[in-house]
Amino acid sequence: MPVPLLDVNAQNLPLEAELTAAFQQVLRSGQFIMGPDIPALEQEIAQMTGAKHAIGVSSGTDAILLALMALGIGPGDEVLCPTFTFFATAGCIGRVGATPLFVDADPHTFNLDVTDAAGKVTSRTKAIIPVHLFGQCADMDAVMALAAEHKLAVIEDAAQSLGAMYKGRGAGAIGDFGTYSFFPSKNLGALGDAGLVVTSDDALADKARLLRTHGSRPKYFHQHIGGNFRLDSLQAAFLRVKLPQYHGYTARRQANAAFYTEKLSKLPGVVLAAEAVTNQGAETRNQDSIRLVLPVAFPCSSARSTLEVFTSNFEPRTSNLGSVHIWNQYTLRVPGPGRRDALRKHLAARGIGHEIYYPAPMHRQECFAYLGARDSCPVATRLADEVLSIPIFPELTEAQRREVADALSAFLAENP
Ligand SMILES: *Cc1c(COP(=O)(O)O)cnc(C)c1O
Repeated sequence: MPVPLLDVNAQNLPLEAELTAAFQQVLRSGQFIMGPDIPALEQEIAQMTGAKHAIGVSSGTDAILLALMALGIGPGDEVLCPTFTFFATAGCIGRVGATPLFVDADPHTFNLDVTDAAGKVTSRTKAIIPVHLFGQCADMDAVMALAAEHKLAVIEDAAQSLGAMYKGRGAGAIGDFGTYSFFPSKNLGALGDAGLVVTSDDALADKARLLRTHGSRPKYFHQHIGGNFRLDSLQAAFLRVKLPQYHGYTARRQANAAFYTEKLSKLPGVVLAAEAVTNQGAETRNQDSIRLVLPVAFPCSSARSTLEVFTSNFEPRTSNLGSVHIWNQYTLRVPGPGRRDALRKHLAARGIGHEIYYPAPMHRQECFAYLGARDSCPVATRLADEVLSIPIFPELTEAQRREVADALSAFLAENP
């Protein structure tokens, strides 16, 4: 039975009547730009994340760009950003004329390694963009402490983590700005491109709103050089239809993750990322026997600072200490030369969707060769060779997720 990596129709078609009604309402209103669904959605998302202000924008990429512009980051400035991320995070830093400082990854959470970030700060460093990768928050206590020490602005790239929590606080609502994407593959997917920025700072919110429409106030009088970063009324209307379902989508993603972890963790050669942390010595000793590392919802999003939590009785579904993983991706690590590609072939032969997020870290991208950082960030370089994401979308059926788990189990049996 083929299993797609993602099935947007399985999510959207059950809402066809409501989505069509939303379309009709916007059509008949004629308010295609900044219609009433924009402030309504902004208020709903602000409430959900705990931030004071929300500003709907054209995409998750434009959300990051707008945040950097509102903070006045530009030529001569440096911005810390994880190398193991989607391109938009780093691309926006380059687009405002600033220099990205690529930070290595934590091998267990995939998020940025704040210790590595601390070692890269200079007098020109003005901001840090932690990315909450795959649905789990970066180590925000450490990020905020580093930012306070060096007076860095913090932009949380929460494109993959709307509704995730860090110690009881919403992803995106901790730093100066939080940015979200409603690209169709994100946990809350629009029917096209859409994004949003949050902040609890009144002045930054005002500046971002201004820059969203060419920096003008009043119209045709420009205080700043902004852009057209507006969210479409139609996308806002569609997103408002889907938002009440969001809690259910997340619960089903969490249940799918728990299912995989329960099925796969019993197989020989399979370890949880948490076990890899607690048995760091053992991992080195038995490295050759590890075939698959499963992702884990860490209670504090810092594998290293939470060793004691995992010493016994590890319970993958417990989101203790107020942290919540929303599982945008369920990303395996497949160590060993050639093994990840062998697994890809095995899954492809069975029609099981999978993807490598991400095959090339930012410090190895051609467009950033001028930085001369190619040989930095060894952990992320290794992750790019080992990671593989499998289907986790909410509408996955019991038979489909069993098929995925069985295929992985068969691979391990055939390739001990
Ligand atoms: C998807 C994504 C973006 C960009 O969002 P778009 O809406 O596609 O522009 C930025 N950062 C991360 C981490 C993402 O996953």
